[in-house]
Amino acid sequence: MNQDTIPIEDLELKSAQELLKWALEKYGYKIALASSFGTEDVVLIDMLVKINPTARIFTIDTGRLPQETYEVMDRIKEKYKIRLEVYYPDTESVEEMVSRHGFNLFYRSVELRCLCCKVRKVESLNRALKNLDAWICGLRREQSLTRTEIKKIEIDQVHNSIIKINPLVDWTEKEVWDYIKENDVPCNSLHDKGYPSIGCAPCTRTIKPGEDIRAGRWWWEPPEKKECGLHCKNKEILK
Ligand code: SF4
Repeated sequence: MNQDTIPIEDLELKSAQELLKWALEKYGYKIALASSFGTEDVVLIDMLVKINPTARIFTIDTGRLPQETYEVMDRIKEKYKIRLEVYYPDTESVEEMVSRHGFNLFYRSVELRCLCCKVRKVESLNRALKNLDAWICGLRREQSLTRTEIKKIEIDQVHNSIIKINPLVDWTEKEVWDYIKENDVPCNSLHDKGYPSIGCAPCTRTIKPGEDIRAGRWWWEPPEKKECGLHCKNKEILK
C-alpha cells in the first residue's frame, strides 16, 4: 500500500517506532521533534536517531530552564551526535515584559503566567513550526486532565493546520521508564530528585505521593488551566 494512503485509523494502531518511521518517510526534512528533554522526549530522540540519525530535533530555551536541563541536553547531543536546533525568545519582547511586570510575574495571575509562556515559549514555537509540515511531540494521555483526549495524529489548527504526531499517547509512565532503562537513554537528573515533569525552574516543583505527574507544574493554578499554550486547541482529524 502507498504510505500516503494509510487510513488514519490504521496509523492510530501503529507502535511508536512504526509511526515515527512512517512520519519521517512521509515528511522528510519538513518534520521535526519538539523536545524539552523530559522523559518522553528523550525516548523519542533515541527512537528517531535509530530510524534516521539526521532527523530534525528542536528545543526552546526560555531563558529560565534549570541547569540540569542544559546538562541533559549536552549529554544527549554528545551521545547521539545530533545537531540540536535551539530557539530563543525575542529579546525585545522579554525586555518589555520584564520591565513592565517584573521577573516573577507568573506567580501573580494566570494572565501574567500565560503572557510569560507566550513570550518565552509560544512565539519561539511558532517560529520553529513556520516552515514545517508536521511536528512530533511526547504528549501522553495519562499526564494530566488536559491531555486525556489527544490522538496519535492530529491537525494542529493553531499552527497553520500542520500535522501533529504524538507517538507515545497511549504509553504509561512505567513503559517510558522501562524504555529509558533498557536503552540506556540519558535523562534529566531532576527526575531522581522528585520532579516527574520539568519545565522552567520557577514554575516546576516536586510532587507529593498520589499527585498527578504534572502537579508540580504551575502548582499554584487550577489543574484545568495548566497548559503553557504549546499544546492547546489541537483538533483530531477523525471524530
Ligand atoms: Fe514563564 Fe514559567 Fe511559562 Fe517558563 S513556564 S515561560 S518561566 S511562565
